[in-house]
Amino acid sequence: MLEKIENIWKALVLNRDKDMTKLNWAMVGGGEGSQIGPAHRLGAQADGLFKFTAGALDHRPEEGRKYAQSLGVDIERAYGNWQEMLENEIKREDRIDLVTVATPNDTHFQITKEFLSAGFNVLCEKPMTMSVEEGEEIVNIAQKSGKICAVNYAYSAYPMVRQARAMVRSGEIGKVRLVVTNFSHGHHSNQSDADNPRVRWRYDPTIAGVSGQFADCGIHALHMASFICDDEVQSLSADFASVIASRELEDDAMVNFRMSKGTVGRLWTSSIAIGRQHGFDFQIFGEIGGLRWHSEQPNQLIYTPLEGRTQVLEKGEKGLHEDANRLSRAAIAHPEGFPLAVANIYCDLADTIKGQERDGLPRAADGLRSIAAVHAAVASAKNKGEWVDARPPMFR
Ligand code: NAD
Repeated sequence: MLEKIENIWKALVLNRDKDMTKLNWAMVGGGEGSQIGPAHRLGAQADGLFKFTAGALDHRPEEGRKYAQSLGVDIERAYGNWQEMLENEIKREDRIDLVTVATPNDTHFQITKEFLSAGFNVLCEKPMTMSVEEGEEIVNIAQKSGKICAVNYAYSAYPMVRQARAMVRSGEIGKVRLVVTNFSHGHHSNQSDADNPRVRWRYDPTIAGVSGQFADCGIHALHMASFICDDEVQSLSADFASVIASRELEDDAMVNFRMSKGTVGRLWTSSIAIGRQHGFDFQIFGEIGGLRWHSEQPNQLIYTPLEGRTQVLEKGEKGLHEDANRLSRAAIAHPEGFPLAVANIYCDLADTIKGQERDGLPRAADGLRSIAAVHAAVASAKNKGEWVDARPPMFR
């Protein structure tokens, strides 16, 4: 029994038998009280692969410096802004190996571009850029520099999402006919939130870009559809609504899409769906089977073979694909949550930085495909749902 318990907890730390030289990790954004900052700090440090070495955590320089120090960053590497970080880190022998960009959307492009061009690896939050042209520039810089630009589509790193993709890849549900995905929550339903600074920027085009909810949550769902189907979104038709009328950008969207292998796609994303909490799920229907997954029960994948009985596949059970087992930490029935999915992204980043390229790590090309789809959806919604090409020009 004791041995079993020890194994469970040893297993929590992924890659523990590997080279444990810590990589130096820095963060821009993710200051005190931010939504995504803590998930990155937990994720990056969960497996002992990265040391939190430097940070420019807040748009207010003094608050950022103080908060970084309170989290253990040395005083000379607790920076007031990212420009100062770049200028100083580039001169250091022990410079950072990876910088995470977790600021609001309008700053992603410039920060990512400057760090990549200066020879740093970057993990950028989504959406990677505001425009398709910027996205193409980042893909080109990453290619030329040979540095990694990853994008934090962390939901794709849940073990049972990997199981779903592996089942699709190995033909267990046959040719995929239809994928249905939703990312709809109710956390921006309150009209008075129009003045809440944490909510307001998401619907302000100068900070969020051309799209609100679709660029914020919908692109996770769209990336998920491509990821599981191993396919690309080719064209789409969108209907956008600002249900809270004072919002300039949409808080609800319905997007129909087609993938390059012929799969039909349906996507609903909303921030005014009171009662839906996280609200991210997918269903995928093939010729000989179907799969269903909900982010609120991430350890279970529901599988129904054609004319067979519905089965619950549990993370940690025997007989799962290696890609699911590899990213699974706790033994069967022990829940794993979002920060560990983020940690899986950091593990794959550490391996890739050290030369072992990992399949499935979302890269700049995925970030570019997403922003191209965002612009396509905006154009379609403005034109009564006209079908438009969703691919970035450089991938047509
Ligand atoms: P937030 O408003 O809660 O926090 C933003 C943080 O960035 C704050 O600490 C702010 O002070 C800091 N900041 C702003 N400008 C800065 C600058 N120029 N330099 C340094 N720090 C700066 O926002 P959030 O919800 O944490 O979102 C941040 C990003 O993460 C967004 O792009 C969002 O789309 C993305 N996000 C991704 C996920 C995911 O699942 N991948 C989830 C939530 C948010």
